[in-house]
Amino acid sequence: MSGHRCAIGVDLGGQSVKLGVVDEQGVLSLHRQVAIDATASAPRVADLIIEQIHLLQDAARDQQFDPRAVGVVMPGYMDRDRTRLLMVANLPNLSGSDLLERVRGGVDLPVSFDADCNAAALGEYRFGAGKGSSPLIVAVVGTGIGAGVIVEGRVLRVREHIAGSLGHVVVDAGGPVCACGAKGCVEAHASGRALEARATVLAGEHPESLLAGALAERGRLTGLDIRTALERDDAAAEKAVAECGWWLGAGVASWSVIYAPQRVLIGGGVAGLGAPYLAAIRRGFEEVGQPGLVRSVEIDLAALGPHAGVIGAAALVMPAASP
Ligand SMILES: [Zn+2]
Repeated sequence: MSGHRCAIGVDLGGQSVKLGVVDEQGVLSLHRQVAIDATASAPRVADLIIEQIHLLQDAARDQQFDPRAVGVVMPGYMDRDRTRLLMVANLPNLSGSDLLERVRGGVDLPVSFDADCNAAALGEYRFGAGKGSSPLIVAVVGTGIGAGVIVEGRVLRVREHIAGSLGHVVVDAGGPVCACGAKGCVEAHASGRALEARATVLAGEHPESLLAGALAERGRLTGLDIRTALERDDAAAEKAVAECGWWLGAGVASWSVIYAPQRVLIGGGVAGLGAPYLAAIRRGFEEVGQPGLVRSVEIDLAALGPHAGVIGAAALVMPAASP
């Protein structure tokens, strides 16, 4: 059968598996999402992924799509040959497992694995807000912070298939202890987790704030609470976002002296905070960055949104379309 050329992208996260068919223009179709238990074993997760790929292949055939390959991405590190998982964030039972072999063995298409930050970066380079930019850094700000770097259209792989642990660049020596054990990483100040923690402190200091109301009602603050309060001009929420954004800007300043990027894009769930968040990141960068880099590096929000992982996973296994 000769159908519409495309690839299947699979984005494995701590709470769900998302997948879909992506064509050569980056258009996502037949998107599916299935909840996952973060404590599930590797065989169970592999079976779920294989089953979902089979269902997607059936649906794709009905729609005249012709998937040629599967890209599977996750927040973690792989061995040199990308055949074994060394660590997967938020899915502890997959670290050190044979998940990759199992998935490969259950699917009749070539399957490649990669880090989700590489997928987000390549997806933005091919189809999103980073078209033609080189070097391009795409940071994914969620529970933690990961980033991928694209140089002349290729994913930069320096260490364990990523450009480096950019979320763990120290921006505040002696600052708060990070999940990685170091002190003052950009992730410790600017991740979604850090933002929630800072917002919780500010809610306590500003009992009149919307954040304080949300905290009293539910016992903890979520990203959605912060976003809702920000949209209603709550001063405590504005302060939390301004501070965390500023620290991310300091991180961009450090990344920039290493990679001299043409463009830095901010994606992931926290980027949904929008314009005030972007303004805070730019402010931090301008205040601490090298003046020459501040003049030359563009910082913007990523464009592919919640589907960045699936679109990027497919892009990783799909040759670039000829212009
Ligand atoms: Zn760290």
